[in-house]
Amino acid sequence: MYNILTLKFDMGKDLIEVHPLLIQEGEELILCDAGYPNQLQQIELELKRCGFTMRDLTKIFISHHDHDHIGSIGQLKENNPSVEIITSEIEKPFVEGTEKSLRLIQAEEYNESLNEEEKEFGEAFANYLKTINSVKVNTIVGDGDYIAKGVKVVSTPGHTPGHQSILLESESILFTGDALAFENNRLIIANPEFTLDIDECMKSIRKISDMKLSKLICYHGGLVENGISESLSELLENE
Ligand SMILES: [Zn+2]
Repeated sequence: MYNILTLKFDMGKDLIEVHPLLIQEGEELILCDAGYPNQLQQIELELKRCGFTMRDLTKIFISHHDHDHIGSIGQLKENNPSVEIITSEIEKPFVEGTEKSLRLIQAEEYNESLNEEEKEFGEAFANYLKTINSVKVNTIVGDGDYIAKGVKVVSTPGHTPGHQSILLESESILFTGDALAFENNRLIIANPEFTLDIDECMKSIRKISDMKLSKLICYHGGLVENGISESLSELLENE
């Protein structure tokens, strides 16, 4: 059984929605990605809507180390110390904060090219990234590993080098993380300017396209049920 959660983040003029996935399989209750910082209360409410509490979570799967995916994991871990934190080998040091976030490195490099006015925003973003809590990873998984029965890890690098998605095997549903986003009824590259390796990203999209999935759950955009293969073909042709 799965539930798509919705978390809302107020960005001033924009209200951004993100969609972690909650998977219940046997004894396991798995949260895939965990929102921006300070979204613990919203996560709690969403878990409650699905009939659970934070303490019921057994695992948290992290697709990659971006702030909007790991932001509230530190708080979740504080409230549920036994929850198992899972990510890829490549993402681990960035999640744990033993290596500088690739997003922060990218932001700082980008800021060098900005004029004074733009720099203010750029530097505010970089400073914000520095406040993201790191969290200890318990388990490393790679392509083809299972985190529960029928819940399979699919390596989808590009957006970040260690990015991974989650396949619900029996229903052919893929939680894409940021390997794909869904906007205005179309599947798109999630934030191309934030995609660290666009060639790898397109390879991952091709891989997803070859999987013949029934549904996609995009962290940015939510559930995609119709026109998946058409939308993916269009995306692949235009690159
Ligand atoms: Zn994201």
